[in-house]
Amino acid sequence: IKWTEGRGWHDAQLVPYAPLSLDPANMTLHYAQTIFEGLKAYRQPDGGVAIFRPEENAERFRASARRMGMPELPVETFIAACDALVTQDKAWVPGSGEESLYLRPFMFATEVGLGVRPANEYLFIIIASPAGAYFPGGVKPVSVWLSEEYVRAAPGGTGAAKTGGNYAASLVAQAQAAEQGCDQVVWLDAIERRWIEEMGGMNLYFVYGDRIVTPELSGSLLPGITRASLLRIAADLGHEVSEGRISVDDWREGNADGSLTEVFACGTAAVITPVGSVKSARADWTVADGQPGEVTMKLRKALLDIQTGAAPDTHGWMHRLG
Ligand code: PMP
Repeated sequence: IKWTEGRGWHDAQLVPYAPLSLDPANMTLHYAQTIFEGLKAYRQPDGGVAIFRPEENAERFRASARRMGMPELPVETFIAACDALVTQDKAWVPGSGEESLYLRPFMFATEVGLGVRPANEYLFIIIASPAGAYFPGGVKPVSVWLSEEYVRAAPGGTGAAKTGGNYAASLVAQAQAAEQGCDQVVWLDAIERRWIEEMGGMNLYFVYGDRIVTPELSGSLLPGITRASLLRIAADLGHEVSEGRISVDDWREGNADGSLTEVFACGTAAVITPVGSVKSARADWTVADGQPGEVTMKLRKALLDIQTGAAPDTHGWMHRLG
């Protein structure tokens, strides 16, 4: 779907996957005015297909567009576009379990020019790909690297938007994590370098027995849809769940005195991933016993059961295709 200043949204098309041809002076290549989303369609037990919470992705896409000076795609148009693509690709939605059809909606400036200002032409596209189970061999805890040298996002910046620049800013730290033998980066706040924000592509949760805490939306971390869903599911399951501030010291000390019993990360790709160990320039530690925790696995199952239709959709989160 195209957007042009003075004309609005126009020319929706469903076309076979193919390369794009871009002018070298395309503004996106220079000024990175680009946003994206990630969501999944799951096969249901009756053979139908349902998308998990597309309204939430549509709303977050609008919020990202506002922050990046881009036009806001109406929620109904976003969902209708997802529906049209998934209907067309229905045969590619895997048959069962945690497998899914991953959808990647994105939008970028198509105007040609070298002036730094919001563009007046954009293209919105959705591509799709079948996605296997994230842990085909059983859930395996990840190791994380606390990035104290680099920051991903600062107050007043674009951290809460799903825009390419945030990921570009994270790549060097991700490479550092890999050099340290870690799977993922954990980001700290930009000002004090003390408060836990999120991981490279997932939000974090800290489990203290029955009590569960996730870092509050500081304005510089992404408001994850899995994170928001787990706030509800954890409460449904009787946990005391809250959003708050957790420092690196809280993490290390809670771990040492045994009050912190589990840590997990959550996002569309892996749903829930236990965090098994932490490495930083100053200290390394194993999270509890380093194994997937009971609360982590219980929440993982509860969410996946809703997504795959194994449990009733009591919150109305599954968007069924017609
Ligand atoms: N944080 C970042 C930086 C991400 O890229 C993602 C993945 N979209 C998340 C958190 C998790 O968000 P969601 O649950 O909506 O996938």
